[in-house]
Amino acid sequence: LHWSSKRIRSSFIDYFKALDHHHVRSSPVIPWNDPTLTFVNAGMNQFKPVFLGHTQRAYPCATSSQKCIRVGGKHNDLTDVGNDSYHHTFFEMLGNWSFGDYFKKEACSMAWTLLTEVYQLPPNRLYVTYFGGDETMGLDVDNEVKDIWRSLGVADNRIIPFGMKENFWEMGMYGPCGPCTEIHYDRLGHSLASDRVNLGVEDLIELWNVVFIQYERLKDGSLKSLDTYYVDTGMGLERITAVLNNKISNYDTDLFMPIFSAIEKMSGRSAYTGKFSEDGRCLDTAYRILADHVRMFTVALADGMFPEDSHKLRRIIRRAINIGGDQFGFLPGKNCLIDLTCIVAESLGETYTELCDQLAKVHIILDHEEKYFYEIQEKLSRDWKDLLLQRPELKTVSDLQTPGMIEGIREITGHIQEWKNYDCKLPGNMAFKLYDTYGLHADLIEELAEIYGLTVDEEGFQLTLDKSRQKTKIIGQKRLETFKKEELLNNLVALNLPVTDDSAKYQYRTSN
Ligand code: ATP
Ligand code: MG
Ligand code: MG
Ligand code: MG
Repeated sequence: LHWSSKRIRSSFIDYFKALDHHHVRSSPVIPWNDPTLTFVNAGMNQFKPVFLGHTQRAYPCATSSQKCIRVGGKHNDLTDVGNDSYHHTFFEMLGNWSFGDYFKKEACSMAWTLLTEVYQLPPNRLYVTYFGGDETMGLDVDNEVKDIWRSLGVADNRIIPFGMKENFWEMGMYGPCGPCTEIHYDRLGHSLASDRVNLGVEDLIELWNVVFIQYERLKDGSLKSLDTYYVDTGMGLERITAVLNNKISNYDTDLFMPIFSAIEKMSGRSAYTGKFSEDGRCLDTAYRILADHVRMFTVALADGMFPEDSHKLRRIIRRAINIGGDQFGFLPGKNCLIDLTCIVAESLGETYTELCDQLAKVHIILDHEEKYFYEIQEKLSRDWKDLLLQRPELKTVSDLQTPGMIEGIREITGHIQEWKNYDCKLPGNMAFKLYDTYGLHADLIEELAEIYGLTVDEEGFQLTLDKSRQKTKIIGQKRLETFKKEELLNNLVALNLPVTDDSAKYQYRTSN
C-alpha cells in the first residue's frame, strides 16, 4: 500500500467530511487584520474570531489542510530547518474543528480511529500526552482526557502528562488557547542505519495536536474563560507522510524528493543522500534548506506577499540565493530558483490552485529580487573597500549585509571623538538609529562601539525603542479604522489575491 502525500491529504479531508465536517479552503499565509502574526502559523488562525465570539460559522464542524509558515513570533522553527528531519518553515497542517459541537471524547476518538484504522498505524507505536495542570495559572490536571484515552484502549504506560510548555497550546502572545493532548509516533524498531538515528532524527515525534480551546489569553497575561468550548486540531502532513512510508525523515518523501532531483540536475552535484551532520555543513543540509526555503517563498509570494513587506521573507529568499550560488553553483540570470518554484507548483498546485494561477507573478518578483540582491552585494563590497581605506580599524567587523549598514557606520564614525570627550557612550538614540534605520543588529552595534572604546547606552536605546513602538501602534490602529470596504476589495482585486470565502471575506466582516 503506497501512501502518497496527495492520498494522505485527501483521505484526511474525506474522513472528516464523512463525519459531517465542512471542508474549508486554506486561507492565504498572510494573516488578515491580525497584528499579532506575520504569517499564518496554524490551521486555527482563520477561525480565531469564531473562538473569541466575534463571529459565527454556518457550520458546526470544519476540516481543512492549511498552508502554514513558522519563522517568527511564538512559533519559530527557522533554526531547526535543515538540521532536523521534521521542522520546516512552510508546512501543511491537516485539521478538524468543532465550534461548540463535539468536545474531548469525540475529538480523541476521531483522531485515534483515523490513525489506527484508516492509516493503519500500529497502536503500540503510538504515545499520547495530556495536560498535567499548572498551579501558578490555577489549571487542573486533565484527568478526563487521560480516562478517554484509557477507554479507547491505550495502555497506561503510553499516556503521559506534560505541563504548560508542551500541552497548553497558544497561538501567540495572546489570543485563543487551551489544554491539549498530543499523539506521538515512536520510530524505534524500524531497521534504521544507526548513523542516521542520532543525528537530526528523533525516535519520538509529535504527529497530531488536539487542542481544547477554552480560554483567551489577555494582554495582561491572565486567562479568560470562553463561553463556548471548541476543538482545534492540527497534524503535520509532512510528518504523517514520512511515518506512513516508513521514512525517518520528512525530506525522504514525495513532497521534497522531486525538488532535490531538480536541484541535482541543475547543479550537477551529487544526489541527496539523506545524511545529517553535526555541524550542519554537509551538502545534504544545503539541499534541505534550499528545498524548504523554495517551498516557503513560492507559497508566500503566490499569496500576495512582497519581499518589501517582510524582512523574514526577504531573508529566506536571499538565503536561498546564497546557498544556490555557494553550494550548487547557481549563476545569476540562469533562473534556477524560478525553475524550482515550478516544481513546487507541480507538487502542490492541485491542492492550492493559487500556486499555479500566481506563478507568473512569483517569477517576476523573484527575478527582480535576485537582480536587486546581486546589485546590493556588488555595491556593498565596493563601499566597504572604500570605507576601509579611510578606517582600517574596522577590518574585523563581521556580518555586513547591506550598503545601508555601511552608511550607518559612516555616520557614527563622524561623532566618535565627540562621544569620547563626553562620557564614552554610544548614545541610545544613535544606537536605535543604527538598528532601526540602518538595519544593524545588536551584536554588530556592540562590536562597533567596542572598536572605538565606547559602551552602548542600553537604557537610552530601550527608551527610544519603546517610544517608537508606541508610535507605530497608533499609526497601525488608525490605518485599521480607515480600512473601508471598497478599499479592501479594490486592494484584493489589484493584488490579485485569492479571495477565499474563509479568509479574506470573513476577515473583512470582522474588521468592519
Ligand atoms: P513540535 O513540538 O514538534 O515543534 P509543535 O508542538 O510546535 O510541534 P503544534 O503547534 O502543536 O506543533 O502544531 C500541530 C502539528 O503541526 C504538530 O503536531 C506537527 O505535526 C506539525 N508541525 C508543527 N510545526 C511544524 C513544522 N515546523 N514543520 C512541520 N510540521 C510541523
Ligand atoms: Mg514547535
Ligand atoms: Mg510540541
Ligand atoms: Mg504541539
